[in-house]
Amino acid sequence: MEDARRLISLIVPCYNEQEALPLFYQAAARQMDALPGYRFELIFVDDGSRDQTLSLLKAYAGKDERVHYLSFSRNFGKESAMYAGLVNASGDYVAILDADLQDPPALLPQMLDAIEREGYDSVAARRVTREGEGRVRSFLSRRFYAVMSRITRMEMIEGARDFRLMTRAYVDALLALSERCRFTKGMFSWVGFKTKWIGYENVERAAGETKWNMMQLFKYALEGIFAFSVAPLALASYFGIAFCGLALLAFLFVFIRALVCGDPVAGWPSLVCIVLFLSGVQLFCLGMVGQYLARVYTESKHRPLFICRETNISEEKFVKMG
Ligand code: UDP
Ligand code: MG
Repeated sequence: MEDARRLISLIVPCYNEQEALPLFYQAAARQMDALPGYRFELIFVDDGSRDQTLSLLKAYAGKDERVHYLSFSRNFGKESAMYAGLVNASGDYVAILDADLQDPPALLPQMLDAIEREGYDSVAARRVTREGEGRVRSFLSRRFYAVMSRITRMEMIEGARDFRLMTRAYVDALLALSERCRFTKGMFSWVGFKTKWIGYENVERAAGETKWNMMQLFKYALEGIFAFSVAPLALASYFGIAFCGLALLAFLFVFIRALVCGDPVAGWPSLVCIVLFLSGVQLFCLGMVGQYLARVYTESKHRPLFICRETNISEEKFVKMG
């Protein structure tokens, strides 16, 4: 007989997670068993790990039929891993969780409740504390969310994680955005729908180390801004207008002073400073235009976001690259 229970897909991006995976699998299995009213599929995306991650996944798949894995041909990054999981998930509900247990599976019942009983389309988790995280890192991260919300005019929630439970309609909307430069945090907000936020205390990584250093986080922040806002492009025009105004005032000042005092203006040091400053502004604006151009270039190549090397997902359902 056909199983009428709803299917929940749990997507887990993994990159060198051999230490954390056993703990994650244990916790996830416990949580799945605690929700007998649903069917589950675990989709592990091995993002080109160089450690024992894939063999662990194969071992789990061997003894647990809910476990599916797909393994990339190289490291494509978490955004690609999440995307690969989403295109290959067939659940009525889909959740994305980190392998390090920083996204506690224990929140799932509460999330399901919000979707089924309160009528939300997605339920997302946000950290309300940042204990265990460096002070500079958490300060910069907070500034980032403030700036992002302002310039993109989108709801960017501070402390938001990629951890969320979504309905099928929401996932289909996400997949309809076919861009190559993916900034999922922004896309979640862009597609709209009704989202509930659940706050929770920050959990430190169960095992292993974070894959992000400061430079990568900085690039990620820029990625978000360039992917979701064209405000920086307008900046060049603002600078232009402001400096034209300034130049006019300076011209009047010099002209009137020459008329009144009669002496020609001396002073090349100030001139050098002005020239240097303005060429700086020009290069800065040019660089910004370059950032957008680079994205147009990347998008126009239409390269796949991921290439899969092996999987245990059945052939007819499986999306191998995308
Ligand atoms: N991850 C990935 N590919 C990468 C980097 C990270 O799939 O290139 C996964 C990683 O295995 C983990 C999640 O993304 O499940 C979050 O990574 P991490 O814990 O290092 O980030 P943090 O929690 O420190 O933001
Ligand atoms: Mg983590």
